[in-house]
Amino acid sequence: MNALSSVKLIDGKACAARVLVEVREQVHALREHGTQPGLAVVLVGTDAASQVYVRNKVLRANEVGIRSLEHRLPAATRQTELLSLIARLNEDPQVHGILVQLPLPAHIDEHRVLQAVSPLKDVDGFHSENVGGLAQGREVLTPCTPSGCMRLLREACGELRGKHAVVVGRSNIVGKPMAALLLQADCTVTTVHSRSRDLPALCRQADILVAAVGKPRLIGADWLKPGAVVIDVGINRIDEDGRSRLVGDVDFAAALPQVAGITPVPGGVGPMTIAYLMKNTLLAFALQQQATRQERTPCPSPC
Ligand code: NDP
Repeated sequence: MNALSSVKLIDGKACAARVLVEVREQVHALREHGTQPGLAVVLVGTDAASQVYVRNKVLRANEVGIRSLEHRLPAATRQTELLSLIARLNEDPQVHGILVQLPLPAHIDEHRVLQAVSPLKDVDGFHSENVGGLAQGREVLTPCTPSGCMRLLREACGELRGKHAVVVGRSNIVGKPMAALLLQADCTVTTVHSRSRDLPALCRQADILVAAVGKPRLIGADWLKPGAVVIDVGINRIDEDGRSRLVGDVDFAAALPQVAGITPVPGGVGPMTIAYLMKNTLLAFALQQQATRQERTPCPSPC
């Protein structure tokens, strides 16, 4: 473990800023050659939290030089209309990434919509082809939050090989892809969930603990192995001491004295998610360029 013995806080804000600088430089280089990655963000309805997320994503894209295209549709939009828009975006050569902001209104089949996004433009990494590719260890677009967590872990721990990672939570968005990425990094991985027996004992085995549950301060100090590295994905709003505040799934103050490193909430995983959306847009651009080159390359022998 590197500098963590002295610096226990894993600073997601600072790490995200470094990721965004990398993306900005690469986008700048592409623009010098006359091309520009484009990200289409689709929002259906007026959900207040979704509006904020979309605004932040568009802002961040503009900051790093990615062309952003916003599509705001009314809550009553029919599924067929949304699918037609996605079909157009799939064909649009100026669009390299497509993000459909979730949740969608109840009358729309989320799975059907996510499957309609071209796997090469699926910057959220939710298409079955990308989910399968991740499970097979292929280079595909992977979900932004777990990808951001992996970057934090690599910076905090250096080598991940052989470490025992415990992932608390098994959602398709965080827990499952997180476990797959840790496995790909040669960790020994245990996934635990609401039906697991003796969660504290399972968590105490973790050299790396990733909490993605959505329960404020579920994980106390007595669930943690001394010297563990903790990534807290949870974002929970609670009322405390007469004010509203955000806390993670881990009891941060109790955990701090005994861990080697821990992400704060806010300022940990959150900023990494949006930074990795930008990184995924660049990766989507590169994958599409590669696919176009392969289409153009003539077959070397009669086939
Ligand atoms: P989900 O609700 O989809 O999944 C929660 C998981 O936690 C489920 O697998 C569930 O188990 C498990 N779980 C629930 N209660 C317990 C318990 N008492 N003990 C053990 N496991 C339990 O949530 P998400 O994965 O989407 O999100 C998790 C958290 O991360 C939320 O707070 C969310 O806001 C946050 N988040 C943060 C992001 C960021 O950018 N920082 C991005 C995405 C999410 P089971 O499957 O058995 O029901």
